[in-house]
Amino acid sequence: MKVGVLKGNGIGPEITAATIRTLNSTGLSFEWIDVPIADEAIAQYGHPLPPQVVNTIRELKVVIKAPLIVNKGRGRLTCAQPDGSEVTYPSLNNAIRRELGLFVNPRPLRGIPGISGKYADMDVVVMREITEDVYIGWEFRIGKTSAQAIKLTTREAAIRVARYSFEYARKNNRRKVSCLHKANVLNYTDGLFLNCCKEMAQEYPDIQFDDFMIDAACYTIIKQPERFDIIVTANQYGDIFSDLGAGLVGSLGLAPGANIGENVAVFEASHGAAPDIAGQGIANPGALILSGALMLEHIGRTRESRAVIEATRLVMGEGRVLTPDLGGNATTMNVADEIARQIEIILQSSY
Ligand code: ATP
Repeated sequence: MKVGVLKGNGIGPEITAATIRTLNSTGLSFEWIDVPIADEAIAQYGHPLPPQVVNTIRELKVVIKAPLIVNKGRGRLTCAQPDGSEVTYPSLNNAIRRELGLFVNPRPLRGIPGISGKYADMDVVVMREITEDVYIGWEFRIGKTSAQAIKLTTREAAIRVARYSFEYARKNNRRKVSCLHKANVLNYTDGLFLNCCKEMAQEYPDIQFDDFMIDAACYTIIKQPERFDIIVTANQYGDIFSDLGAGLVGSLGLAPGANIGENVAVFEASHGAAPDIAGQGIANPGALILSGALMLEHIGRTRESRAVIEATRLVMGEGRVLTPDLGGNATTMNVADEIARQIEIILQSSY
């Protein structure tokens, strides 16, 4: 099984090595294909995301991606298109998603007994739309003292992410989809997004539907997390809300994610490259390992996917081998080794 690897920077290479270590322990034979990105791609092709790399990822179809450092305020990136035109993206992460046509970023947020305190039972999946909203990066300076950004919402993208959310709910026996928005202020953009979700809800009478203002949703998930199940929301709200949820669960190091397109999927942690702890071997690899489990599920390896999830939750919940973000003093590789050991035990006992 060929799987692409974008090992990123910051803590990226450390958590990538840990993830490969644990996924190999499932006994599946992967061929890990290193795909150059950022500095490596600049050295090889003179661009952080050249068309050759985009094509390689499309051909591989399934990729594990570690985080990439994004320069705040100067991360814009221009990519050449097959027709000779150019598109400018606000960041390399954004460019990867949009060059590959990835449209939804599911981010599961699941509490772990022993780690997540009163959020141990939390079990929410944020479905974040990732092609539109203010993250299209259409920003303009107005003179020297002002700037504006455009928030784009189209019916096509809103229906697509809403349909994906309801389909996911049905396939995974989930009870409810909630749309998060600010349609009381952004009548046209968020109003359209909400209306598309309401329209989709009509096609799924077996799944409950409701909606929350994004600010009220932030309050409610802290007070009554059980009110949420599947959440569908626009790009920026989903980005921020899922970090809030990761904090409730206990660490960004426990928040996995996927970026799904029609024929290609990129699996990555919800967190960034954490430059403040990079190179020390202390990053929590949990989020990328759990993203690997999402990858296994995506390629139809449900049994191995469940084993990776169960082993990761077991190791985190036991609390013996934890990285400093969760109050322990283990290294990234200590955690990976322990998860790998548990994966082997779980898979042996399930024969
Ligand atoms: P970005 O803009 O790319 O999201 P950021 O610097 O704003 O990057 P993160 O890189 O996600 O955000 O880091 C936020 C905080 O969470 C940092 O203090 C970082 O050390 C911590 N953090 C993020 N990921 C992990 C991890 N896997 N293990 C431990 N701590 C982490």
